[in-house]
Amino acid sequence: MQPRAIRFVLPVLALALFTLVGFSPGSGTALAADGGPARSQATTVVTYDAGGAAEFGDVVRRATGIWNEHLSNVEFEAVDGSADVVILADDGWPRARPTGLGTGTVWMGRQAVEEGHDPTRIAAHELGHILGLPDRRTGVCEELMSGHSAGTDCTSATPNAAEVAEVERNFSADVFLPLGTHVYGEPTPAP
Ligand SMILES: [Zn+2]
Repeated sequence: MQPRAIRFVLPVLALALFTLVGFSPGSGTALAADGGPARSQATTVVTYDAGGAAEFGDVVRRATGIWNEHLSNVEFEAVDGSADVVILADDGWPRARPTGLGTGTVWMGRQAVEEGHDPTRIAAHELGHILGLPDRRTGVCEELMSGHSAGTDCTSATPNAAEVAEVERNFSADVFLPLGTHVYGEPTPAP
């Protein structure tokens, strides 16, 4: 190879390597700029638009804030308009329809709220599906993904350590997310 060709090829290789290391496919990445935990790898930013969440806007902000306090590999960021996650309100059951890891739609259904379920817990739970967590109807309040099964007395909107670790693993490995709609719960049968 001629020296002139080497001078041309090396910068191109360096640029290609930087591109591979600095960015991951999907919703884009950004380095943490806040005073949070030291982050050794790029953080995936999941943007969300709660403009259609009606009276649940504050609840959604609280729920994304709770997740952000616990996560290092991924963080939610509010945007207006084009977003990875669209959050809506309707009169049905709360539910989430992921279209991939960190993308999809959440419905803040009013039916569960009217039956007494905590709206912040609902929002954090549905966002858990977007982050790749399945339903686990164990009835345990300390588990966010037990959702509806923990009953209306449960107001915990915080993921436990195992759930946090699972999300961190999902985003570090860029796992494949099974698609489908997760419904918060079915009406409790009469005793
Ligand atoms: Zn669920």
